[in-house]
Amino acid sequence: MPRLSPIPCALNVKPDAVSATPGKRDLQPAERFALRVGDSAIDGLGVFALEAIPVRRKIGELRGESISVREARRRAKGRARIHIVEVSETRAVDATESTTALRNINHCCAPNAVLRISQGRVEFYALRDIEPGEELTCHYGESHHEGRLSCRCGAANCSGRL
Ligand SMILES: [Zn+2]
Repeated sequence: MPRLSPIPCALNVKPDAVSATPGKRDLQPAERFALRVGDSAIDGLGVFALEAIPVRRKIGELRGESISVREARRRAKGRARIHIVEVSETRAVDATESTTALRNINHCCAPNAVLRISQGRVEFYALRDIEPGEELTCHYGESHHEGRLSCRCGAANCSGRL
């Protein structure tokens, strides 16, 4: 089965759908650096750094509703843009109803950030020094698009497919 990846989307913003009993780490802000969501030259909305982010620093997390992988695949069916990431064999995070800025991160074939799954959390780290105003991007890896979407990231090594 294909894995799911966050896809940028311009859905209306609603309060975070995190669990009713958040763990201690949920009380930390989802973003460690000032970020802005705005129009992207790559696709739809993107997320932009408002301040410099040094290489290897944690940028923030994608937060959302914790659901089963089975439910994630049900929700992803027939939707062009999704904000779901599988975090284990059985669990996934759906950020569709989340205000997390990082849910808008676009794919790029030469990204400046990387998505890592850590203990059921979706975390983003800087792959290089990022300047204020730069759009944050990550490599989606295997996505539910399975190469059916064309990539417009503009990178020199762009594979042309998502
Ligand atoms: Zn590309």
